[in-house]
Amino acid sequence: MDPASFRLYAHQVVDWIADYLAHVGDYPVLARTQPGDIRRALPAQPPRQPESMQAILADFERVLLPGITHWNAPGFMGFFGITGSGPGILGELLAAALNVNAMLWRTSPAATELEQVALDWLRQMLGLPEPLFGVINDTASAGTLYALAAAREALSDLQIRQRGMSGRPEVPRLRYYASQEAHSAVDKAGIVLGVGLEGLRKIPVDDEYRLDVAALERAIKEDLAAGWRPFAVVATVGTTSTTSVDPVPAIAELCERYGLWLHIDASYAGSAALLPEYRHILAGCERADSFIVNPHKWLFTPLDCSVFFTRKPEIVKATFSLVLEILRTDEEAPNLMDYGISLGRRFRALKLWMIMRYFGQEGLQARLREHIRLGQLLAQWIDEAPDFERLAPAPFSTVCFRAHPRGLDDEEQLTALNERLLNRINGAGHYFLSHTRLRGRYSLRAAIGNLRTSEETVRGLWRELQEGLEAERARRS
Ligand code: PLP
Repeated sequence: MDPASFRLYAHQVVDWIADYLAHVGDYPVLARTQPGDIRRALPAQPPRQPESMQAILADFERVLLPGITHWNAPGFMGFFGITGSGPGILGELLAAALNVNAMLWRTSPAATELEQVALDWLRQMLGLPEPLFGVINDTASAGTLYALAAAREALSDLQIRQRGMSGRPEVPRLRYYASQEAHSAVDKAGIVLGVGLEGLRKIPVDDEYRLDVAALERAIKEDLAAGWRPFAVVATVGTTSTTSVDPVPAIAELCERYGLWLHIDASYAGSAALLPEYRHILAGCERADSFIVNPHKWLFTPLDCSVFFTRKPEIVKATFSLVLEILRTDEEAPNLMDYGISLGRRFRALKLWMIMRYFGQEGLQARLREHIRLGQLLAQWIDEAPDFERLAPAPFSTVCFRAHPRGLDDEEQLTALNERLLNRINGAGHYFLSHTRLRGRYSLRAAIGNLRTSEETVRGLWRELQEGLEAERARRS
């Protein structure tokens, strides 16, 4: 593409993006296509001849856009509400244009050094003490795997990196721990590391879905007595279902006592610690060996950007570093490829740096505070409504609840009613909610985290929920 054509189409695309973002609330939030619709609308064979950019962009709008679920929409409250903010989108655009690979310091010194500066700014914003080494990964799932791989490497007597685990009867069965509410990324790490799903012992939670520390200690003791070798605990600050916060100080205490690696999964809620009044959620995290927060969840950064901090970079490096001759360099500088399995690394720091500068710490705080205010408002309306009930505490901006009409106490019927309510809301096109199950009870879940979500948006959701319940009543009578 020659420069003049690039300029022309880039302007068109940027204009399209600006219009899209201005009107994103007008699209049905959840894509209305059926499985296979998009695929059928596209040629099965690749194009033999060049096609015009106009034709490609027209198909983007005509064929692909209907199959997009609009995560940018104000009414998107499924999973975790996220936003690819303006400065973040521009950062992605520039990073795509530069197309640098931040694998070695030499392959773009600015990419490596900006990553370190941006992550040190983030560290300061979160109130985490120095020294803390950070790298950006694609996802928390990758970071969790790296943390647990480093925890396994820290068992230096076993020499697992060099000698593996299979066929070695002298290697004890390895155990790590997380609450029953931890993300499946924690289980998956066990699959990849050869520790197996049985290597993860799930610890029960208390009434507020937080890891039960006494049960954790009992489990560690039992496992030691039975010949397991405990090596790590994953504590979650902001669990996926209810956003509960595990009691990290007490867990850190146990990890220190039993010599276990402590990994903190603060993928979602870590961002809330930007607020002085929420700083307490990271109490004890200064004692962790590794820590993850995802700016692509609640810090307005386009996917993907997951920050991995560690107090033990030398162990993470010892776990992963393997340098081909072609990659050997002699500068006294970190090569970030050494801290994970990916060699190629995108220039993700650029968008994060642009976001931190564009909003400033105070701008970020104001937006997070507003999301929490809106979440609390919804929680309050639910608490005050006789025919709805909250199913978990809402410490941040995510609310778990269900319709529970007076006199209807059959769990199966309540599940069916709430499933219909969810389908009705999601089908209407203004909102997208997801669901979860809490102590066996089917729960609706609204997660507010989008820059475009306003009080009016949340009021509209509440209206639709009440109308939905009315329709259910009419159906039953
Ligand atoms: N950990 C928690 C607590 C999460 O809620 C999620 C996703 O929602 C993850 C990890 C996985 O995040 P990622 O998509 O970055 O792998």
